[in-house]
Amino acid sequence: MSLAGKTALITGSTSGIGQSTAKLLAARGCSVLVTGSRSLEKATDALQDIRSTAVGAIHYVQCDLRDVKQVEELCRRADQIFPAGIDILVNNAGIQHMAPVDEMPLEKWNDLMQVNLTAPFMLSKHVVPAMKKKGWGRIVNISSVQAIMTHYNKAPYISSKTGLVGLTRAVAMDTAAFGITCNAICPAWTDTPLVAPQVKMHAEKNNMSLDEAKIDLFTNATPTRKINQPAQIAGMILFLCSPDADNMTGTSVPMDGAMTIQ
Ligand code: NAD
Repeated sequence: MSLAGKTALITGSTSGIGQSTAKLLAARGCSVLVTGSRSLEKATDALQDIRSTAVGAIHYVQCDLRDVKQVEELCRRADQIFPAGIDILVNNAGIQHMAPVDEMPLEKWNDLMQVNLTAPFMLSKHVVPAMKKKGWGRIVNISSVQAIMTHYNKAPYISSKTGLVGLTRAVAMDTAAFGITCNAICPAWTDTPLVAPQVKMHAEKNNMSLDEAKIDLFTNATPTRKINQPAQIAGMILFLCSPDADNMTGTSVPMDGAMTIQ
């Protein structure tokens, strides 16, 4: 499937799932605006990796999504880079902070809600008018199995990811008649830097090596005994951008090795 002539904005695309998605869409001819909170210098390796197979153009804008003003500036820069608008928005950036609810700092709650939920709302609001004009658009939100099941110590993460599923349905309804789809993906464990602190915490708590902790956390907790690879989530995003997914909107697709049906 070619994405030649299409434009994409992918948040959190200097690592993990976002980087894999930027690489895949760009390899299919899409011009991609890569964005992350890292400086251009610190994003160099990721940009080199994405460009190594890119057919479409790759741009980078640094943006800390915790800051509303920086999200507004990202929208302005996106308009300069792609004056005809964004065709594909992937709200991928996400952060985590673990603590029991009575020890969760309000500051962390606010940061998580801003990055995981408010920024996707702001960016969706920004890209939809041009999509409506073109009669085509794709919005993919990366939620989590935590929107379906519940773990300890994750109140803001679970609240924001559940909210993101609600936002997905709301945006899908408001754009359904305009050739725009909005879907969410709910992954379970995926091998990326995001889960490293949880692996470390699990290893320390259970007196295990990091490798043992990974097996205990990921493999043993998943009925298929498999962990997602970032490229597999990217593949699902590509499918959601394809003509075969043209009439699929407002859905949340679990990619969880049967974790949520146990
Ligand atoms: P990751 O840590 O590699 O990616 C998260 C991205 O978000 C990074 O590129 C990071 O730079 C960016 N980011 C973090 N804070 C930011 C900020 N303040 N401003 C702008 N960007 C910021 O991890 P990942 O696993 O690839 O995460 C991608 C998405 O997948 C996240 O939304 C995460 O919640 C979700 N997810 C991951 C897993 C998993 O097991 N890894 C499972 C379910 C859902």
